Amino acid sequence: MRDVSSTDVLICGAGAAGLTLAVDLARRGINFRLIDQAAEPFRGSRGKGIQPRSLEVFDDLGVLERMAAMGGPYPPFRNYRDTDYEDTDFVETRPLTPAEPFARPLMLPQYLTEGVLRDRLASLGHRVEFGSELVALVQDRQSVSAKVEIGDAVETVHARVLIGADGGHSFVRRALDIGFGGETLPGRGLVADVSLDGLGRETSHRWNAGRPFEQILLFPLAGTGLFQFQAPVPAQSEVDVSPQGLQRLIAERSGRSDIHVHSVQWSSVFGMNMRVADHYRAGRVLLVGDAAHVHPPTGGQGLNTSIQDAYNVGWKIAAVLRGAPDGLLDSYEAERRPVALSVLELTLAFLRAAQRGDMRRGREAHEMDLGYFNSPLSFDGRATKGKLRAGARAPDAPCHRADGSAIRLFEIFRGPHWTLIATGGDGSKQMSLPDGIRSIAIGPNSDVHDTDGNFREAYDVSAGDCVLVRPDGYVGAIVPAGQEPALQKYFAQVFPNPAK
Ligand SMILES: Cc1cc2nc3c(=O)[nH]c(=O)nc-3n(C[C@H](O)[C@H](O)[C@H](O)COP(=O)(O)OP(=O)(O)OC[C@H]3O[C@@H](n4cnc5c(N)ncnc54)[C@H](O)[C@@H]3O)c2cc1C
Repeated sequence: MRDVSSTDVLICGAGAAGLTLAVDLARRGINFRLIDQAAEPFRGSRGKGIQPRSLEVFDDLGVLERMAAMGGPYPPFRNYRDTDYEDTDFVETRPLTPAEPFARPLMLPQYLTEGVLRDRLASLGHRVEFGSELVALVQDRQSVSAKVEIGDAVETVHARVLIGADGGHSFVRRALDIGFGGETLPGRGLVADVSLDGLGRETSHRWNAGRPFEQILLFPLAGTGLFQFQAPVPAQSEVDVSPQGLQRLIAERSGRSDIHVHSVQWSSVFGMNMRVADHYRAGRVLLVGDAAHVHPPTGGQGLNTSIQDAYNVGWKIAAVLRGAPDGLLDSYEAERRPVALSVLELTLAFLRAAQRGDMRRGREAHEMDLGYFNSPLSFDGRATKGKLRAGARAPDAPCHRADGSAIRLFEIFRGPHWTLIATGGDGSKQMSLPDGIRSIAIGPNSDVHDTDGNFREAYDVSAGDCVLVRPDGYVGAIVPAGQEPALQKYFAQVFPNPAK
């Protein structure tokens, strides 16, 4: 093994955030390494709900089809009362619309989600270096020097950028002395993946709704024969997580003696924290995922927020490494830290509701309406704004090609490029565009026809306006005809300067 090496990006931590970033960088042809201190992949269900916005991200990264084939929808909840039960659908289903192709979260245990990401990474020629722990780092203006322990050996890795994707106890965050303000909430939770009999798999099961310290939940985990068991547990008590211990807890809280726990694949007793890092960037080091924010698991937001952090920063790292202005990396914190703060509030509201017995999850859990409206990268040059704002998620829209075949905007967006949509003509074709932008025209005599008015309905722009869609599927700029210089100014913020 080499004891000194160099790479463009060193990603520390191969959980959901690190893997998502690695897949994105791999498809962009960026040179990186992905290390994890664990000897092997983690085998716990943890974040089992992939929200609609993350499904769109995974669609773009080319992993959704496999995840959808392995996972499944959330079944309804069976709420047991004294003598009977009631089934309720706790995940609100929206009607599918042309603008939003995914209406429900997908249930897939986190270890299966991560497995699909690792396979995708392998197909792109990369792998996780397990058994490799980051133990020290220093940085100067040019690079970060990271000391990695691999068994008895130590390797020094010089990287242009280091990513702390190393979870809630982040070594990277602590090494940089970045504050992690917030609070620890009272109470603890138990979660375990168990094999059992005595319960059907067509519903989830819940006893003692509204009695916070007596409640138990059992979810049949899609893609496995297991159930995920969840229960609040008293502070500072010993919790017996053996099969016998969990069977006893289920019997005590449900009154059922016919549920038999055979084995426990994974379990965790966890405290609940609500914390956000004071900064997401320190020089050449960036924090993503739980390293930057932690919150209660209620509402299934942690995994999703982590994935979307990685998706936000991936294209920015690639652009800066190729010569875009370094300030582009500052927009990561400007965009994602406010999102984490809002997710904290949301998960706290979900936690309080769950303690009252209300487990319903609506659109607010789907992460579809999160946007970067106050970001330095969101520009709208129109005198009168429309209903779609710069910084919003760019909606999908089923359209047709000139030859009459069907095409969705999401198919055009798919891939690492930007998309410039010119409306009512093909003005953008005469414009000089940086490499890495795909330009299309939507209109009667253009490449793409808005046959059913889906684009008009979702985008609400006027003929002549151009919409610039970022690689991560957010509206970067809306520029009316005649404001091409504003577009060129925008490009200068996010693309390498070809003159340099
Ligand atoms: C008990 C539990 C239940 C949860 N339930 C839900 C849920 O229902 N819904 C939901 O959305 N989220 C849930 N979460 C949260 C979700 O699992 C996390 O938000 C998600 O795992 C964050 O991903 P990450 O990649 O940022 O961090 P992690 O998954 O924690 O990955 C960090 C990785 O970094 C590695 N690492 C750490 N230090 C080093 C080092 N020094 N060197 C090298 N590698 C290192 C670790 O080995 C690990 O693999 C739950 C979490 C827990 C713990």
